[in-house]
Amino acid sequence: MKPSTRLWLASLYLFVIGTASLAYTIAELLLGVIHSSLLVTSDAIHGFMDSAIAYISGFGLYYASQRGKTFPWEIYRLESLLTLLSILTVLTLYTYMLATSIRLNGEPTPLWMTLLLLAGGVLTYVMYLWERRNYHKLKLEILRADALHAKIDTALSLTSAAAVVLSNYFHLLIAEVAAVFVIYGYVLYEFTLLAKDAAYGILGALYKDPALEDKIREAAAELGKPLDVKIRRAGSFLVVYSLVAVSPDMTVGRLHVLRTKAIKTISKLHPLIVHVDIKFVPRRKEYKRPLKSRHA
Ligand SMILES: [Zn+2]
Repeated sequence: MKPSTRLWLASLYLFVIGTASLAYTIAELLLGVIHSSLLVTSDAIHGFMDSAIAYISGFGLYYASQRGKTFPWEIYRLESLLTLLSILTVLTLYTYMLATSIRLNGEPTPLWMTLLLLAGGVLTYVMYLWERRNYHKLKLEILRADALHAKIDTALSLTSAAAVVLSNYFHLLIAEVAAVFVIYGYVLYEFTLLAKDAAYGILGALYKDPALEDKIREAAAELGKPLDVKIRRAGSFLVVYSLVAVSPDMTVGRLHVLRTKAIKTISKLHPLIVHVDIKFVPRRKEYKRPLKSRHA
């Protein structure tokens, strides 16, 4: 399968997942507010954040699959910044809501809502199974990370359902409050992971993958002696910089042909590579290199 087809399919999967969880989340949010259940509302906010993440990664993969030679890849850093800002907004509203409406003496969440929470857990688990299958098929890291996430989210929904049962049968409203804090804690944790990732993407942090680096060196070696290879993050994507020492006798025409070929090869090494930059320096004759510089 072509890398662009893999990316396109993965983006489609993420859109389907984002839409399914958004539809469920909106229904849950409405019911949570109508029945003034902080627990159900919290579960909905968590789901809302997750569907936003699925949409944003889906758009990123979609653009990567459509990219042409002139695609402004710098825009991927903007994608990271937008992710960070939108999630921060939801988190702020959520924190405000918790701080102003948490109570230990209110009414428990209606018992029938355990069914709603359980349905949410089942939906998440089904999506997890589906994503796991897609990950094996497409081998895209972005889908695997999401599958682990879905597993934890399912566990959270089951915990919430258990808390509603406890608060109804044993008048333990504290169980619901505890579950709300567990959800809040997990949303905070998800946020820090996402913020870290977004910050790496915005700053263009180095991406460490020795096996990939070796393959890039191998491809660049077609031109001459690779002096430096760097893989940097650009949003959720990767940009490759390479410095190659080429023979001073090589013609510009030949250099151009080899460079175009190397860029093509390197672009195919990883589906998330969106830009390859190869720079040259003339290679010095071996016998002119002072030996001591090796030990410096
Ligand atoms: Zn989640």
